[in-house]
Amino acid sequence: MIMHATGLPVFVENDVNALAIAARLYDDGLTADDRLLVTIGYGIGCALTLDGHVYRGAHGGAGELGHILVEPGGEACACGLRGCLETLIGDNALARRAVALGVLPEGGTKDDLNAVARAGHVVALELFDWAGQQLGNALASLIHVFDPEDVVVSGEGVDVWEFWEPGVTRSLRAHLPSDRTVPVTVRNWGEDTWARGAASLVFASPFDRVGVSSSGRRVRQMLREGL
Ligand SMILES: [Zn+2]
Repeated sequence: MIMHATGLPVFVENDVNALAIAARLYDDGLTADDRLLVTIGYGIGCALTLDGHVYRGAHGGAGELGHILVEPGGEACACGLRGCLETLIGDNALARRAVALGVLPEGGTKDDLNAVARAGHVVALELFDWAGQQLGNALASLIHVFDPEDVVVSGEGVDVWEFWEPGVTRSLRAHLPSDRTVPVTVRNWGEDTWARGAASLVFASPFDRVGVSSSGRRVRQMLREGL
């Protein structure tokens, strides 16, 4: 419909995949060809960049890290399944758990949880540490499967990454071989970076069905050189 209205090609993309494309094109500090980009916040997202290409899978559903099963028979998830990772460590799940633990009053939000953690509330900090472990467990499994060069974490949740980080690091140490180190980089990208990724699809899709590769980087270089 949009294509008919505008007369222009239209591409639909997963937001985290678009973010991965922006990272690859515009963040000169991130050069890995094989990357797990994970976002934490309302949902738990993941984009797989393999050999420089965003991997979308057979049906465009690759990277749904938030919906891997971590608690059989657990809480209902927005996706219709039960026990997904998101039902443990998504923003709403953490807020609910904080209420249940007495850290927050009934109706407390994730922002409230951030605030009490910043104020040094011990149980709130323990909750983030636990969340970090759950995320680290999931990342360790993905690292075993995909053997990435690095892991990048972003999303609105990284504004309190310092509370997640100890649990993540401990879990990765516990569940990966001691000689296997995968750097974890955190990027506090804002909405503009997500939008830039979506806009960058114009570089990627017409020339490369599965994402930005060297062709996208060449286009960016040409633009920089004014060609
Ligand atoms: Zn789910």
